[in-house]
Amino acid sequence: MGNFIDLKDRRFGRLVVKKRIGSKRGYAVWSCECDCGGIAEVMSVNLIRGNSQSCGCLNRERSQQANTTHGMCEAPEYKAYQGAKHRCNNSNDSHWNDYGGRGIKFLFNSFEQFYAELGSRPSPEYSVDRYPNNDGNYEPGNVRWATAKEQILNRRVLLVSQEILCEIFGEDGDRIWKILREGILGRGIANGQN
Ligand SMILES: [Zn+2]
Repeated sequence: MGNFIDLKDRRFGRLVVKKRIGSKRGYAVWSCECDCGGIAEVMSVNLIRGNSQSCGCLNRERSQQANTTHGMCEAPEYKAYQGAKHRCNNSNDSHWNDYGGRGIKFLFNSFEQFYAELGSRPSPEYSVDRYPNNDGNYEPGNVRWATAKEQILNRRVLLVSQEILCEIFGEDGDRIWKILREGILGRGIANGQN
C-alpha cells in the first residue's frame, strides 16, 4: 500500500473519512461519509487541499440557492426586468439610443422590487411600459404592463399609420385614417405644400 497519511476519522467540511479503499494517481482514495448521509470516494489530495468538503450536496445547495433567490429566472417578468435594465445601462444594447442613450434610467434596486410594482405579466402580448411618463425612468410609480397598442398611444411622438388605426379601432380605423389623411393633406395643399 505504500506510504500515505492516515486520514481515518478525520473531518473535512461535511465529510468524515471512514476507510481507505484504494489509490488513484499515486494518492490514497478514501470512502467518506457526508453529514447529509451520502457517501463519497475522495482522493486524499482533494481532502487535504479542501477541494472536497461534501458528497456534492454543498455545491448543489449553493447553485440551487443562486438560482432560486426569487425562483423566477425563466419567468417572463424576470426577462422583462433584465431587458429593461440592459436597455438603460448597456450602451451595446441595440435599443440603447431610445433608452439609456436618451437619459432614461433603470432605478429599480432588485427584481423583487420590480415584481412587487408590476405583478405578473397578464399575457404574452404585454410588455413593460413607462407610464404615465413615457420620457420618465423605469421606477416605482412609472411602470405598467401594456400591449403594443397601448404603448404606441403612449409614445412621445405619435406616429400613426393606417395599419395601427385599424388594429386599434377595427373597421372604424379605415374611416379615421381617411379623415386624418384628408385633413393633413388638405391643410398641406392649402399651405402650398405637398
Ligand atoms: Zn452530502
